[in-house]
Amino acid sequence: MPELPEVETTRRGIAPWVAGFEINEVIVRQRQLRIAVPSALEELVGWRVGDIARRAKYLLMPVAHGHLLWHLGMSGSLRLEEIGTPPRKHDHIDLVMSSKLVLRYHDPRRFGLVDFIAGDPCADRRLASLGPEPLGDDFGGAHLYRRSRGKRVAVKSFIMDSAVVVGVGNIYAAEALFLAGIDPRREAGRIASVRYRRLAEAIRRVLAAAIEQGGTTLRDFVSGRGEPGYFVQRLNVYGRGGQPCRVCGRELRSITLGQRASVYCPGCQR
Ligand SMILES: [Zn+2]
Repeated sequence: MPELPEVETTRRGIAPWVAGFEINEVIVRQRQLRIAVPSALEELVGWRVGDIARRAKYLLMPVAHGHLLWHLGMSGSLRLEEIGTPPRKHDHIDLVMSSKLVLRYHDPRRFGLVDFIAGDPCADRRLASLGPEPLGDDFGGAHLYRRSRGKRVAVKSFIMDSAVVVGVGNIYAAEALFLAGIDPRREAGRIASVRYRRLAEAIRRVLAAAIEQGGTTLRDFVSGRGEPGYFVQRLNVYGRGGQPCRVCGRELRSITLGQRASVYCPGCQR
């Protein structure tokens, strides 16, 4: 599933050939995505796209009197192709840009969506309920501490709640908790503020590192080769249950927490 770093990498990869350019043609081959592709999409021909923003795992493209809202769902990707490149299976939408490249949406499972929001996108219900961006100024240890008081939920589930902070998927939650030395099962409301400072710092670090590594795949957007897939990161705990901890050598333990697989080190995390 595309996580926040993949979406941010997509934004950076497509922006130079989409933002500031006009939409010359819209081709929709499949309208049935998570929601039906609105006919408003075809009405955007001739309009210029503004600066592309990301909010959580949504991409927002200002155009005409509103914004295009994209979400990649479980298996979606946006890539740039040369004009005339034949569509592959599951290439559902093309925006032919005046930059002479095609912005092409590919999604085998069709859980992604594109919608047109007229007016202020911040008022849209899908965006209004979201917590702060993990790499933004509104996020930090104080925010996590404040939001966690009185919460009995496990800290891992707490930081994966998009109303608390957006974009902390299962991999990043597991890795950040390891770096911060916090047991994923610990009750969110019983963690001290100094430990939340370390956790917020760790969340920023793992996400920033993933975005940084995504930068090396940007050339793929131009040529149309490859996709913004899963970045090969050096993972300390995720997917390493039963293997030795890289720090203390103890066997990493696998558990299920909030219906998600979780791995942690019983020596380093408490
Ligand atoms: Zn350890």
